[in-house]
Amino acid sequence: MPYALFDRLPTTRLEIGGGAIDVAFDSGELTTPKEHLLAWIGDAARAVSAYYGRLPVERVRVLVIPGPGSGIRDGTTFGYAGAAIKVTLGRDTPAHDLADDWVMTHEMVHLALPAMADEHDWLDEGLATYVEPLGRAQAGQIRPEKVWADLVWGLPKGLPQPGDRGLDHTPTWGRTYWGGALFCLLADVEIRARTANRKGLQDALRGVVAAGGNVEGRWPIERILETGDRATGVPVLHELYESMKAAPHPVDLDRLWQRLGVRGEGASLRLDDSAPLAAVRRAIVAGRADSSPPPSECHPLHRVVPRAR
Ligand SMILES: [Zn+2]
Repeated sequence: MPYALFDRLPTTRLEIGGGAIDVAFDSGELTTPKEHLLAWIGDAARAVSAYYGRLPVERVRVLVIPGPGSGIRDGTTFGYAGAAIKVTLGRDTPAHDLADDWVMTHEMVHLALPAMADEHDWLDEGLATYVEPLGRAQAGQIRPEKVWADLVWGLPKGLPQPGDRGLDHTPTWGRTYWGGALFCLLADVEIRARTANRKGLQDALRGVVAAGGNVEGRWPIERILETGDRATGVPVLHELYESMKAAPHPVDLDRLWQRLGVRGEGASLRLDDSAPLAAVRRAIVAGRADSSPPPSECHPLHRVVPRAR
């Protein structure tokens, strides 16, 4: 992150979720009007604040660097000298592309997790992949069907392939982004199953932020998981990590979708409220337990399929 460059540029401050977002534009032409760019960054901050209950850091610098062509690319989040996000934006990016963008929200989710050893990148990227659409749904920016359609599309890419040695030891793209997201969904469902749908992964992650954990610090993964488990009252994160860190841990996704009431895929995806875990599915997206009865099946999902060796 070019912190020194940022600090020389004029900035615009957005105040969202109890925190400050200082935005600077590097030199170079952008045809997209600045108010659209600030609205795009503001929407991402509102999505993350909806999920975490606040902006996860007191202040974040956002540096927008104009690049060739159109589209948002090369988002990166930093914490070593203060929370910061650097994003390259094609100079001809149409304003309506910004409304559909997930990159800025993904980067802002990274603000909510302390830095860890490299072998745990799957937790950092998996959380950003999993939380980004949930935050946008909770902020009213996308519909629940879109959240599930993306998971149905993406999670198969996170399943273990032959030769897999577990999440800590298989640093492929699929296992890092979607394997990490699979860990998050399994954890979310399991926390909700064990707490009669009163707590979820969202409570665990809010607990980490409330304990002072964010991108500006560096924690061992065990401290992150323990802090999250303390916030929910059930040791799901610890147990699931023990199961997934050094072993393939296959998951029957078709059965999981069936139990959650997620049917079909893409534009034809339908949500079924008569499924056994429909209330869990709704609570994951709504961000709170609803008044429906607790799930009838409470056995741990991640033990549904015997581990292959
Ligand atoms: Zn990322």
